[in-house]
Amino acid sequence: MKIHEYQAKQLLREYGIPAPRGRAASTPDEAREAAEALHGKTVVKAQIHAGGRGKGGGVKPAASPDEAVAAARAILGMQLVTHQTGPEGKKVRKVLVEEASAVRKELYLSLVVDRSRGKECVVFMASEAGGMDIEQVAATAPEKIVQCAVHPAVGFSPFQARKLSASLGLDAEQRKVFAEIVRNLYRLFLEKDCSLVEINPLAITKEGRLLALDTKINFDDDGLYRHPEIRELRDPDEEEPLEVAAKNAAVNYIKLDGNVGCMVNGAGLAMTTMDMIQMAGGEPANFLDVGGGASAEQIEKAFRILTSDPNVKCILVNIFGGILRCDRVSAGLIQAAKNIEMRLPMVVRLQGTNVEEGRRMLQESGLRFTVADGLYEAAEKAVALVGLG
Ligand code: GDP
Ligand code: MN
Repeated sequence: MKIHEYQAKQLLREYGIPAPRGRAASTPDEAREAAEALHGKTVVKAQIHAGGRGKGGGVKPAASPDEAVAAARAILGMQLVTHQTGPEGKKVRKVLVEEASAVRKELYLSLVVDRSRGKECVVFMASEAGGMDIEQVAATAPEKIVQCAVHPAVGFSPFQARKLSASLGLDAEQRKVFAEIVRNLYRLFLEKDCSLVEINPLAITKEGRLLALDTKINFDDDGLYRHPEIRELRDPDEEEPLEVAAKNAAVNYIKLDGNVGCMVNGAGLAMTTMDMIQMAGGEPANFLDVGGGASAEQIEKAFRILTSDPNVKCILVNIFGGILRCDRVSAGLIQAAKNIEMRLPMVVRLQGTNVEEGRRMLQESGLRFTVADGLYEAAEKAVALVGLG
């Protein structure tokens, strides 16, 4: 799960990491109030779940409350296109108005989970070359980014902060502050079950202070159940609407760009089904795991999600009936297809307990079910039906 910059900065502050004072605003009037409360120069920043806003025109300095209002007018409602949003961009619904800082230098500092073999731990990355071109730095001068792995069993040690700060050109006092920031960032990362915390830029101001000018925090969805305060920060406006519907239906769904909709029970089988569709020359429209139960209600919810995607031209159902019997699955499929007046062709591949009965029910239902036996055969049939959908 992702959150907005203004929410992430609040979290940083709670963990003792310095960030500029500021307030979120949804209207130009609120932006004026926020700017007046800050007394002085401000920066008005688009709040969307994507980076690269500076280069896309989503970050504007303002010398007075009037300028802050003008900046908020320009940014609110805009369809902001950055290298992370895709060409369609993202609509801006909120801005962050915060006090402006005089910046001398921009550093980069982040913490991620590194899953690669041999590491499998949390890794800090830091660079003296922070700011808007960090991706460029990573691609052309990776030696400018220092890494430091923290093994979960050993935990964080001050040595690691010293290792990271060695190449950042900090004075003695700044190194002390930096070590505190790193220690607190690690604490935040672990306590809140983050998957990414990034501060870019971590500014050194003209006065020599370290300040988090921009931050991005992502959370591990599987850890959210123990953080109600983080779940409250969710912004459904920023999420794929079909994925939000899926979350509410307890269906595991990821939208993709193809046209063969898939409904499968079990994540492994769902992955394999997507591979088979591709091998058969098609493109899956989604990953969808209805879970072990695959009840009639679940199937109906899944069908509704699949048919809300206008790209879907055919649906491939691949269900293994183990504890769940195939005749029950068929009854659920038939009921759900009737309830939602399904118009798309469906290929169904069932295997498991009572499979013969399950197939017979589908064939005799009078609905647009094509029954398949093997997995690859099912994928081929689905791809062939795409043209007719
Ligand atoms: P991003 O482009 O989405 O990563 O947005 P950022 O929040 O990082 O803003 C882009 C750039 O704007 C930063 O790299 C800074 O150079 C600049 N910036 C943001 N806030 C301030 C500020 O208060 N003072 C100054 N001088 N520059 C700022
Ligand atoms: Mn940034």
